[in-house]
Amino acid sequence: MNCPYCGYFDSKVIDSRDVNEGIRRRRQCLSCDSRFTTYERLQPASLFVIKKDERREEFNRNKLLTGIRKACEKRPLPTGAVDKLVDDVEAELYHSGKAEIPSAVIGDMVMEKLRSLDYIAYIRFASVYREFTDITALKQEVDTLVSSEAETSVPTSQLPLLPDDRLEELAKSHKRSRR
Ligand SMILES: [Zn+2]
Repeated sequence: MNCPYCGYFDSKVIDSRDVNEGIRRRRQCLSCDSRFTTYERLQPASLFVIKKDERREEFNRNKLLTGIRKACEKRPLPTGAVDKLVDDVEAELYHSGKAEIPSAVIGDMVMEKLRSLDYIAYIRFASVYREFTDITALKQEVDTLVSSEAETSVPTSQLPLLPDDRLEELAKSHKRSRR
């Protein structure tokens, strides 16, 4: 990069540090001694998504982000959780080293991550992505969630999907208060 002050072609690096997946370098012009900063960012090779109808479409991070944001709308998620999820998916896709990835694989990756983040967002995303055509398909997905929840411990940040015992308690106290 040429010096922005005098246009000289060479500079020395006087400081460099990692910033957000890139590198920030402080440089000094070898001709006029002016200092300036450059940022280097990794430009990944292009990645194509194989759609259901076999068409190829360039991977679009924003499109994915929009879909997931919609599923997470009004959910009590920590700031940046959705962006981080998309970052993780994107990183996994690029690290896979493949030039083309079926959209179903990406959808499954997102679902798996959403599932550990927020059940409601997961169900919303799944209902669009898996194209639940009737209530039975939706019920099956919820049943799977509930039964797997019984086997594995629930992340503390997440409320159980069907807090049966709490409901029972509420029902009891409700009855008591009516007496
Ligand atoms: Zn210069």
